[in-house]
Amino acid sequence: MPNATVNLIPIPAKSRPTRCEGPHCQMPIYKVPHPATGRQHPVSVNVAIDERCTWPTDTAPGLGVSHFADCPDAQLFRSRRGAGAARGAQ
Ligand SMILES: [Zn+2]
Repeated sequence: MPNATVNLIPIPAKSRPTRCEGPHCQMPIYKVPHPATGRQHPVSVNVAIDERCTWPTDTAPGLGVSHFADCPDAQLFRSRRGAGAARGAQ
């Protein structure tokens, strides 16, 4: 199944990219508040995932996709977070 439902996440104007911490990734990403949760979320501008992606400029916002969709180290993030959350819950 192609991923037909890609959620585009707005990147505010003047956002500055940072580098993904994934050892195999190092892609430029933006950390922006996720529209649904309000929590900081890694977002990448990747036209291979969705051609509507655009880089933000000083005057215009951009559009990106959740970096978990294209990060080669996404599992590493998730397992770290998941482990922490699971321990905290118990
Ligand atoms: Zn990454």
